[in-house]
Amino acid sequence: MSTFKAPKGTYDLLPPASAEYLAVREAIAAPLRNSGYGYIETPGFENVELFARGVGESTDIVTKEMYVFETKGGDRLALRPETTAPVLRAVLEANLHKAGNLPVKVWYSGSQYRYERPQKGRYRHFSQVGAEAIGAEDPALDAELIILADQSYRALGLRNFRILLNSLGDKECRPVYRAALQDFLRGLDLDEETLRRAEINPLRVLDDKRPDVQKQLADAPLLRDYLCDACKTYHEEVRELITAAGVVFEDDPKLVRGLDYYTRTTFEFVHDGLGSQSAVGGGGRYDGLSEMIGGPSLPSVGWALGVDRTVLALEAEGIRLDIPSATSVFAVPLGEEARRILFAKVTELRKNGVAADFSYGGKGLKAAMKAANRSGARYALVLGERDLAEGVVQLKDMESGEQTAIGVNEIVAELESRLG
Ligand code: ATP
Ligand code: MG
Repeated sequence: MSTFKAPKGTYDLLPPASAEYLAVREAIAAPLRNSGYGYIETPGFENVELFARGVGESTDIVTKEMYVFETKGGDRLALRPETTAPVLRAVLEANLHKAGNLPVKVWYSGSQYRYERPQKGRYRHFSQVGAEAIGAEDPALDAELIILADQSYRALGLRNFRILLNSLGDKECRPVYRAALQDFLRGLDLDEETLRRAEINPLRVLDDKRPDVQKQLADAPLLRDYLCDACKTYHEEVRELITAAGVVFEDDPKLVRGLDYYTRTTFEFVHDGLGSQSAVGGGGRYDGLSEMIGGPSLPSVGWALGVDRTVLALEAEGIRLDIPSATSVFAVPLGEEARRILFAKVTELRKNGVAADFSYGGKGLKAAMKAANRSGARYALVLGERDLAEGVVQLKDMESGEQTAIGVNEIVAELESRLG
């Protein structure tokens, strides 16, 4: 062991388990690639103000969870706690929204950093795959994203997740509701901090997980009773479109999200096997975000799915992804000359697209065959001294145990045909 350990609240992804994480990322990305979303990658850090303004000064993310640092050049940066604001920043900076091809549809995959109290499903470094559709107000776009996330989870085999759906209204109706909620909250028996939150961002009090607070909120006014006609119609259409697509969801009139920029459609994917860290993903519409960070009006919608919690959800449902072994052929040379010949063959196989590995370190037959087994390869190629003299190599089918001698020059063609 080295003197160092992974920092608190983080963990390393190691083979073979890491293959599952890659497969989850891929399963989430595939439906997006298939639906007109282009890949975007932004830096792991940004000007801290982007998050302060974009995510919101009153959110936990900004007040408690950001890793903020000053560079030697005097810039104040933050490791990204989320990627929606950075994506919008990048799109605006590159003027992608001006090409007349709105919406700009992009997806990303990467690390997020939040200084949280570490526990199962809650880490300081975690990974999300996200999608953003920027610059269009169309209920079909909200529906598309919800349908695609649902499709990703189903493709992974997940069944015990639920989709919670709500509308947060817009700048017409939300202020009226906000005032009504504030009035209601002022009459409750709440601690100092919660009362302060009720003044700055009353909707977020609805998200309070403490049972005594939730009990008091039982009769809180609900946004759905305050939605303006435009928001009501919009929300109804989103509901109809996802219903028509066969996606099952639950209306959750108290669903709000930890980020300030959401408007109208808001949704969360929760998994019932994860205990208190039950949200596997979430998203919604953020029509005001672009203006908040100095851009033009660009109504947008997006989501972020947590890779770490999705893997935990798979475990909770006892799902093992069918991940094919990476290696098809494992070469075992016995002796110097065999080593040179087989190494050249492995290189040739790889060039021909056959996944091949090699026994390194001059292992004897027994240890090398163990390594071949561990690699999961379907075939082993064993080249010993007698084979050398005869110009053949032993091709062993690791499944049936059957062994045949083939000419050294036939290795590539034979394996290509056997592996299809
Ligand atoms: P929570 O309510 O659990 O704190 P959140 O509202 O902060 O979640 P979002 O900002 O919406 O989460 O991020 C989307 C997804 O990213 C979450 O649903 C979750 O799967 C994942 N996620 C968020 N924070 C963490 C974390 N600290 N560790 C692991 N995954 C996380
Ligand atoms: Mg959080």
